[in-house]
Amino acid sequence: MKIEEGVDLSRFTTIGTGGPAQAFARPGAVEELAEALAWARERDLSVATIGLGSNLLVADEGFDGLVLRLGGTLAEATTDGETLLAGGGATNAVCLHKVRAAALGGFEFACAIPGTIGGGVWMNAGAYGSDWAAILDRALVVDAEGARWQTPEDLGLSYRHSDLTHGQVVARAEFTLGALPEEQIKANVARLQDLRKAAQPTNKRTFGSVFKNPDHELTAGRMLEACGLKGHRIGGAQISPRHANFIENAGDARSQDALALIAEARRRAKEQFDVELRHEVALLGPIEVPPLG
Ligand SMILES: Cc1cc2nc3c(=O)[nH]c(=O)nc-3n(C[C@H](O)[C@H](O)[C@H](O)COP(=O)(O)OP(=O)(O)OC[C@H]3O[C@@H](n4cnc5c(N)ncnc54)[C@H](O)[C@@H]3O)c2cc1C
Repeated sequence: MKIEEGVDLSRFTTIGTGGPAQAFARPGAVEELAEALAWARERDLSVATIGLGSNLLVADEGFDGLVLRLGGTLAEATTDGETLLAGGGATNAVCLHKVRAAALGGFEFACAIPGTIGGGVWMNAGAYGSDWAAILDRALVVDAEGARWQTPEDLGLSYRHSDLTHGQVVARAEFTLGALPEEQIKANVARLQDLRKAAQPTNKRTFGSVFKNPDHELTAGRMLEACGLKGHRIGGAQISPRHANFIENAGDARSQDALALIAEARRRAKEQFDVELRHEVALLGPIEVPPLG
């Protein structure tokens, strides 16, 4: 397996920002993954896995370690009876295609989530009243110590959260679905996609929701809208004029610009609603949301 140096990670994030990875590899099987993890361990390098970078803000300085992007058999998906068997790098779109062809329902909600199976496990991705935890049986987690199957409870899945840490790689996952006619699945997907188009920015470079919804009558988006932040711009990044819980790359944004918007949004929500918003987007490299002053 080839290990590349200085790969530009902005190419692998949907917002299109971020610096280089010190080392980068694309393991295509569990054995190659183990090899890559051993390689990093020998050099005392940190490891992070990325999927489609659809919930990721990478530091402009990059990541001082080994970045993995799963490929080959680790990006494939198949069905067996009512089970979806997927590699951690399989895209939700590929999985949805497989389950629809097998007339298995319950995964339609993922049509709104432009990521991979592993990225979904990491943050217990969800939409329209369902999430990974509701359908996941078990995930194969590989780290420098070896590989083990974990249940949603072992993984600590809760609202947009798992207990996984960098260096733990979701290599495979198995989901239990239920029989549903293909036509019904298509209709469900079309309905959810219409809802999405009506509410959120499309064809923009974003990383999805910036903040988790707080325990409050207003969602994060409505709260930031009430703070007057729609369209607010710092450098090349702006809060979406369409939905205030999205940050768009409006030109030549840097991660630093998006981070400054995150800090400003938190400051305003605290000031106006006395709410401390928690970010949903995953951060990679030397990048941190500053504490509220
Ligand atoms: C337009 C848009 C709409 C979105 N809508 C939704 C939505 O409705 N609901 C929702 O939940 N999310 C949504 N998202 C966010 C995003 O799509 C999800 O969080 C998705 O699950 C991220 O998957 P990914 O493969 O892109 O992960 P990445 O963004 O690449 O990574 C996210 C985190 O997961 C870790 N990770 C990725 N793969 C693995 C792996 N194999 N093993 C271990 N760790 C891994 C990374 O290290 C990182 O910490 C949206 C994003 C966009 C751009």
